[in-house]
Amino acid sequence: MDRSFYTQLASNSIQEISPDTDISLRILRDPSLELLPLLDAAFEVRKKFTGKEVAIHIINNAQNGFCPEDCHYCAQAKTSRADIDEYPTKSDDEILEEARIAYESGAFRYCLVYAGRGPSHKRALHIAGLIRSIKEKYPLQVCVSAGLMDKYNIKVLKEAGLDRLNHNLNSSESFYPKICSTHTYQDRLNTLKAARDAQLEICSGMIAGMGETPKDIVEVAQTLLELKAPSIPINFLIPIEGNVLGAPQGLTPEYCLRILCLFRFINPKSEIRAAAGREGHLRSMEVMALYPANSIFMEGYLNTLGLDRSRVLRMIQDAGFTIKGALSLDDLIDKENQNSGFHIDGTQSFMKSLNDLRPVKQP
Ligand code: SF4
Repeated sequence: MDRSFYTQLASNSIQEISPDTDISLRILRDPSLELLPLLDAAFEVRKKFTGKEVAIHIINNAQNGFCPEDCHYCAQAKTSRADIDEYPTKSDDEILEEARIAYESGAFRYCLVYAGRGPSHKRALHIAGLIRSIKEKYPLQVCVSAGLMDKYNIKVLKEAGLDRLNHNLNSSESFYPKICSTHTYQDRLNTLKAARDAQLEICSGMIAGMGETPKDIVEVAQTLLELKAPSIPINFLIPIEGNVLGAPQGLTPEYCLRILCLFRFINPKSEIRAAAGREGHLRSMEVMALYPANSIFMEGYLNTLGLDRSRVLRMIQDAGFTIKGALSLDDLIDKENQNSGFHIDGTQSFMKSLNDLRPVKQP
């Protein structure tokens, strides 16, 4: 493909002219559109609106399990047989202490996630109190994900100082019945619209790899543009034994990167997050996600581990990016190095022992 195609793609996106559905589908699946120029074009757009900063998000799984919903991708769903350690809502002290650790680890945003269909008014008031306490103590942005919400509960959280409400669309309207039967896509849209009407920032994204088509993915990106979502997490299905959904379908590192590029072109100003599953699905290409995406999770996800903190911070630094927030990336990495003791960074070497050299015992 002629170089001018990619330049035009970036230039249109910067002017907030989205690629049409045809071009969007080609970005996802046309091999004549090569990955590196696509990433470069997406990076131009990312730099224009978000510079080279990476917003690190850390999740707190505030209540694990006990959910009456049946989202097929979720280990906490009532239909999942995944082996998880369920617990009711954590105490405020526990959550506040974890907020401190998240802040000191370099988090820009702290995401409190509660399992369940949606909070009662009593729970919303409780979460509001927690939001106030966290924001009084730490300069963290706070995001809450608590299921379906009406305008009254949203108002309570907004008045407490909540920065963002997360509620993922997860897939397109037509695909949604294949991944959940206990609530509808419209229920999800209603929550997002109620938050938007209350002038509360929304965070909403998708999960790729559940069997959806490229067209479904394009539809999600376009719907999130219509909703003007300032924050879009792109999750890649994590296979969890016991979940209703089995192995991820169709995800290769290249396809995952194409999805991230597509969301950047369609939603140029949004915080695009390479979210759950990026490590497993991008593998050795993981760092490339930072070119279209300007945000990642650290310290894993709701029920699964991710890349450890030290490697996340080092990856950001090695690729020439910096982090968003009050703390210095260099200081955080120094602290990690002091704590871990072992790191290969070109300034020192570690000699192999005889066991490393001759792992098979000799007669
Ligand atoms: S995604 Fe949320 S609502 Fe759906 S099953 Fe999991 S915890 Fe419940």
